[in-house]
Amino acid sequence: MKDIEVYVFDLDGTLYEDTHHFDYYAKRLCEKLDFSNRKLFEKDYKAVLNGMHSLKIGSVFDVKRDLILRQKNGQVTQAFTWEGESCLQEDIGHIYKEALQFDFHSMLNIGDLWWVPAAIARHYGIDNQAAESSFLETREYMMSPEFVMKEVRGFKKMLQQLAKDKKLILLTNSPEKDSNVILTKLGFEEYFDTKIFDGRKPIQTKEHLKRIKEKYQIDFHQMVSVGDNAINEITPAKQLGCKTVLIDPYSISNPSDADVIISNLDELVQVLKK
Ligand SMILES: [Mg+2]
Repeated sequence: MKDIEVYVFDLDGTLYEDTHHFDYYAKRLCEKLDFSNRKLFEKDYKAVLNGMHSLKIGSVFDVKRDLILRQKNGQVTQAFTWEGESCLQEDIGHIYKEALQFDFHSMLNIGDLWWVPAAIARHYGIDNQAAESSFLETREYMMSPEFVMKEVRGFKKMLQQLAKDKKLILLTNSPEKDSNVILTKLGFEEYFDTKIFDGRKPIQTKEHLKRIKEKYQIDFHQMVSVGDNAINEITPAKQLGCKTVLIDPYSISNPSDADVIISNLDELVQVLKK
C-alpha cells in the first residue's frame, strides 16, 4: 500500500457501520406491500438476517425469474427457488448462458444489507416507484437527529492524517443531500477532495475510477478502492489494477477477492494508519 496517492472510499458500510436504518427501510417497504404479503415479508426478513433463507448477502436475486443465484465472476454456479429448492445444473446452463449484468431493478446484487429488504419486497411484488420512495424515506430518516451514529474510535483522526498528503475521494451510490448530512454527522466533511454521488456502481465503477486517474494524473496501482461491497467497489477496481481493501463483516469473500480483507471499521483504521 506504500505507493498509494488516491484513496477512493464508499460511504455506507465503509465510513460508518451502523445498521439500525435497515430495519427502518424494511418497515417502509413492508407497509407498501399488499396486506396479505406483509406477514410473509416480515418472516422472510427475519429468516434472511438469521441465515435461515437461501437469500443471503453475497447472493444475487433474479427478479423476473424469482430465482436466487450464487455466482462467480458473473457466471451462475447455483440457483434456488425462493423456497430454497435447488435448480438443476442443466437448467441453469440453459437459462444463464451469458455473464450476469447487474442493475437496480431486475438483477440485484445482494452485496450489502440495503438489498436484503429490497429483494424480499421485489419478491412480494413491490414496484420500482414504491421501492424508490421507501429508499428516499430511509435516507430522510438518516438525516434526522433520530438516527444516531456510532463513532468508530480513531477513524476521524486517521482520515485527517491521510488527507494531509493524499487525496481522498468519496464514491457512493447514495444521493448527494443525505450523504453530505451523514458526512457532517461523522465529522468527515472536510477530508474529501472529490465527492461523487449517485455513482451507479457497479455499472459505472470503472468509468469513475478512470476519470479519477485522469484528474489526479496517477496510475491505477497508485489508487486504492475501499468498500464493503465486492461487486460494486472491489472487483471492477481490481480489474483495472487498483489496490483494494474489502470490508467483509459477513465473511462471504474468498481470500483472493481483495488485496486486504477486514471484517470491521476498527480493523480498517489499523490498516490505513499503516
Ligand atoms: Mg457500502
